[in-house]
Parts: sequence; structure tokens; C-alpha cells
Amino acid sequence: MYDSIVIGAGVAGSVIARELAERCNKKVLVIEQREHIAGNCYDEYDENGILIHTYGPHIFHTNKKRVYEYLSRFTKWYPYSHEVVANVYGTYLPVPFNLNSLYQVYGEEKGKELEEKLKNTYGDGARVSILTLKENEDEEIQKVADYVYENVFLHYTMKQWGQTPDEIDPSVMNRVPVLISRDNRYFQDTWQGMPLDGYTKMFEAILNHENIEVQVGKKAQERISFTNDQILLDDVPFSGEVIYTGPVDELFEFQYGRLPYRTLHFTFEHFEEDYVQTHGVVNYTVNESYTRITEFKHMTGQKEKGTTIMKEYPSTYTGEEGEIPYYAILNEENRANYEKYCKMLEKYDNIYLLGRLAEYQYYNIDAMVEKALELADKLGSC
Ligand code: FAD
Ligand code: UDP
Repeated sequence: MYDSIVIGAGVAGSVIARELAERCNKKVLVIEQREHIAGNCYDEYDENGILIHTYGPHIFHTNKKRVYEYLSRFTKWYPYSHEVVANVYGTYLPVPFNLNSLYQVYGEEKGKELEEKLKNTYGDGARVSILTLKENEDEEIQKVADYVYENVFLHYTMKQWGQTPDEIDPSVMNRVPVLISRDNRYFQDTWQGMPLDGYTKMFEAILNHENIEVQVGKKAQERISFTNDQILLDDVPFSGEVIYTGPVDELFEFQYGRLPYRTLHFTFEHFEEDYVQTHGVVNYTVNESYTRITEFKHMTGQKEKGTTIMKEYPSTYTGEEGEIPYYAILNEENRANYEKYCKMLEKYDNIYLLGRLAEYQYYNIDAMVEKALELADKLGSC
């Protein structure tokens, strides 16, 4: 009845399902455990009519032409350039920390002097990791580095990861550099914006194909099982490809222990005012137990009366019912454990791991779309 099975209807699952259905003319079954599609990109209207991102703020940005053009088949865009400020004891600094932030902290005269030094050392427009900046031997640059480390990165990172910026994987810190420019945007990518009618609508369009059947509210393990060398669908051997986008340790009942993740807890508040903060996201980098507050209307351009905000509280993922594993904790030990699970899958030649969870990676939406398209290219000799 089906040629392929896709487990999970997030970015990875939706794109690969579409590609198998359209490019390869395969009958695809998509099984999603949540009651809705779109994974963590899911958005919905709250009881006050405000479009909210249920699982945290998602802003699309990419330098990948193929990805931009691909998604543009399924949505128009609201041209939004994301800007973030950090609340540092009540003053608001542009993040990434840039030359505007520098002048705000040090004033015109000192700011100019430091700007020269930074430009001479790293170049105009450079993106410098805070960890690199901290290693600079110039005393004044070191003071800037200490200021930024203490006021932008240290406390936020402690909240988010339970570790200091020096302890976590450097690739995570590289996501938010110090910017030697006046550009206040959070991302410098060529294409950025929000799907005009929201993410859920965009994923509905991606999954809307006659060869795709989507079943929501069903954990794959209710229909899929493994013998020693075969994958079964409803207890019958299935030889088509199975694309799994969930956490790989769950497939094998945590035989090597749980892969560590950070989770988030979100709280929402509604206000009668049209706006309660100046930016889509305000990061709380020195105090409060939440990391950031999102005010959705800034990001979606919605004109509705009133406003809804969301606070994010990070913590350790325990696997408790209802908790969601949002962020893989990247380090050698966890990677090695992940590889053990991958090894267990080697005896099945028709299962593919795809996605932020299944690959235990920190992928943005665009990277995920690209990976899904590349897997489709690989399977595309269908
Ligand atoms: P997911 O979206 O997690 O989808 C996986 C799906 O599989 C889920 O729906 C899950 O329920 C389902 N599933 C798992 N196991 C099973 C099972 N056993 N049976 C059935 N279904 C299963 N990226 C950006 O580009 N811009 C941003 O601004 C941005 N902001 C983010 C903010 C937060 C708080 C987080 C956590 C991530 C953010 N991302 C952002 C990253 C983005 O969410 C991911 O790139 C994207 O969601 C990855 O897609 P995915 O399909 O791999 O995973
Ligand atoms: N970060 C920080 N302060 C900030 C913004 C980011 O310390 O004001 C660090 C933090 O460790 C965070 C990482 O940079 O986890 C990556 O930030 P990004 O905004 O990319 O995180 P995401 O939106 O993926 O949660």
C-alpha cells in the first residue's frame, strides 16, 4: 500500500515526504506523534487571535538559494529582518554585540578608539567569536571581551545550557558572534523572513500531495517494529525506505542510556496594549530565570489588537511525559554514544536518519531543508 514511510512531520519529514511523493511518485505514509504537523516550527492562533509560535520563535534565514527557492514554491514571504536586543540591567544593547552596542557602552570618543582597534585587528565587517575575542592580547580589547562575555554570553549560556561559554561546543557560540559592523540584524543571510500565512500553512502546502497520507497523534512505534534484520509495518515486513526524524535512542529503548538534551518550558501572557516591547525578541542576558521574551506581532506583522508574549525557561531534558528534547548537547561523549545507536541500525538497509533529533545536530530550518533535499537526491534514482 505504501512505498515509503516517514516518521515525523517536521521540516525534515515534510520535505522528504514531498520529494519522495513528487519526484519519485512514491506512496508515502507520514506518521506524526503530535496532534499536528510542522514539528517545532508549528504556529497557531491563540484565543486572542494572535499568531504564536508554540515551540519557540522561528525566523527563517538562509544563504542557500536552492532552499529559498524550494520553500518559495509553498509560501509567500513577510519580509522581516530579525533584530534582538539584550536587556542588560534595564538598558537595551543590540545583539549580536556590534559597533552600535560598543558605542552605547563606551560612548563616542572611547567607542571610536575601540572601533579602530577592532577593525585593524579583525577587519571591517568581521564576525568574531567571543572566545576568539577573549584571547586577544591587547588590554583594551580584552576589557571589551570581558564586558561582552559577562553581560551578553555568560549568564544567558548558563541558563540555556547549564554550562559556561567555554564549556559548551564552540559551534554553538559561533552562532552569535561579535560583529565588527553597524548591522543590527540578528542574521546577515541573503534571504530572511516569515512565511506570509505562517509556518503551519507552509507545511500543509508541502504535505498536500496526492501521494502523501499523514497520520497525526500516533507514535511510530505503535505501527513500526524491528526484527533482527527487518522493519515491520503493522507486523508485516516493509521493504520500502523508512525515514526516521525522531530521537534515535528511543528506537532502541535507551539501550546505551538516554542521549542528553536541553528542553524548554514556555509561558504565554496576553496584554491589551498593542505592543509591550520594542523588538520581536529581547534576551535577558544578566538576570531573570528565563532566557528571552518573544513578542510575536513584531515578527509576523500581524495588525490584531492586543499582544501575546512568550518567556522561555530552559532545563535538563529528563524524558518525562510531555517534555520535548529541543537541543542536542554536543560533545565527544554524547556523539560517541549517538554513534553506537547508529551502528545498531546498520543491519537494516532501508532506514535513513534525517533531522535535528535523528542526527543529533543543531540544524536551522534551512540546513534541514537542504539535508532533506540531498537525501531525496540520493534516493532519487527511484
Ligand atoms: P522537528 O521539528 O523536531 O520534527 C520532528 C518531528 O518528529 C516532531 O514533530 C516529532 O513529534 C516527530 N516525532 C519524533 N519521534 C517520533 C515518533 N517516534 N513517532 C512519530 N513522530 C515522531 N531554526 C531556524 O532556522 N530559525 C529559528 O529562528 C529557529 N528557532 C528555533 C527555536 C527553538 C526554541 C528551537 C528548539 C529550534 C529553533 N530552530 C530554528 C530550529 C528548527 O526548529 C529546526 O531546524 C527544525 O525544527 C528541525 O526540523 P526536524 O524535522 O528535524 O525536527
Ligand atoms: N547566546 C548568549 N547570549 C545571547 C544570545 C545567544 O549567550 O544573547 C548564546 C547561548 O549560549 C545560545 C547560543 O549563543 O544558546 C546560540 O544562540 P541562538 O540565538 O542561535 O540560539 P537559539 O535561537 O538556537 O536558541
